[in-house]
Amino acid sequence: MSIIKFKGVTKRFSDGTVAFSNLSFEVDEGETILFTGPSGSGKTTVMRLLIGEYIPSQGEILFEEGPLNQIKHNRLHLHRRKIGVVFQDYKLIEELNVWENVALPLFIRGESQAVIEERVTDLLKLVELTDKALMFPRQLSGGESQRISIARALANSPKVIFADEPTGNLDQETGERIIHLLTKINELGTTLLLATHDPLIIKEVGAKKIDLSEFTQEKKEGSKPKKISIEDLVSEKSKNNQKEEKSNQEEEEEKREEGDKKEETKKDEPTEKEKDKESSKSEADSPSEKIIIKQADQQPKNNEKTSKIGSFFSKLLSKKPKKKEKPSKNPYKNNKQPSIEDLLPKDE
Ligand code: ADP
Ligand code: MG
Repeated sequence: MSIIKFKGVTKRFSDGTVAFSNLSFEVDEGETILFTGPSGSGKTTVMRLLIGEYIPSQGEILFEEGPLNQIKHNRLHLHRRKIGVVFQDYKLIEELNVWENVALPLFIRGESQAVIEERVTDLLKLVELTDKALMFPRQLSGGESQRISIARALANSPKVIFADEPTGNLDQETGERIIHLLTKINELGTTLLLATHDPLIIKEVGAKKIDLSEFTQEKKEGSKPKKISIEDLVSEKSKNNQKEEKSNQEEEEEKREEGDKKEETKKDEPTEKEKDKESSKSEADSPSEKIIIKQADQQPKNNEKTSKIGSFFSKLLSKKPKKKEKPSKNPYKNNKQPSIEDLLPKDE
């Protein structure tokens, strides 16, 4: 079954930049696809379109045979759970230790303490980092950080993993280990989309390849180098100071919300309170760590089982990071699974 379909997709940004035009491809469930092409060819844009962070300027994207543009803004977080994203720079949360970084998506989802403990234990075992559970990101090597970010991407059991230049910050040997881990995850059933411009990986991974540079002609032909004077820069800067500019992402979110509003009948329109709740939920699944922190502060309501872990995360996130924090005692010793009590700060 086809899990992803891009049908003649063009992405043009508001400043006129065209990431690619008329891009079509299909991914079958369980397949591995390599997106290749130099920096700027649109690899990250494919990922952002797929998670609904950007919307296509032309063409259509189908996920599990359903059009992405028909997913309502307040349902986007459910779609995003199906796609785990792995970033070049890991995007781990510095204030949380390894165990907590992997547990966070499950906590946001409102899983019970028992489910979280079991799943995090399994994921750390899969990426072979059980013994680093209580370490903080700054105490990990690049390869270890990337393995933790892979474990976190898998927390919600996504259908698809999009690894965006996962080896970009790693030496060759460590990079190969990461590719090996991703391939193993794919063999266990998760569809793998791998964006890379590393010729070694492109050569080694025997999968279907999509060279995005073949779809960027319009950008190359259309954009003549424009001279920018100091005066232009000064006037642009003062313009920016006068009005608070919307980020591209905000613009995209607004476009999607407008689309939703047009379609919705008055009858099923949510109350303002519901809207707030839903939109913060959908933000929580976006890859931005800032947004994840914001969401983690809000404890799931009416769920007694998660309240303990909820207050645990809230306490952690409200605490300022200590300068030189030593990892606490490792509860994994003697094969003991850490419980929330083990992880709670002892000085309170
Ligand atoms: P890659 O990941 O292959 O390096 P990207 O997808 O990041 O490429 O970018 C493709 C092109 O789209 C680049 O020219 C980039 O500058 C442009 N681009 C990406 N995101 C935006 C944005 N939010 N606003 C304007 N241009 C963008
Ligand atoms: Mg990129």
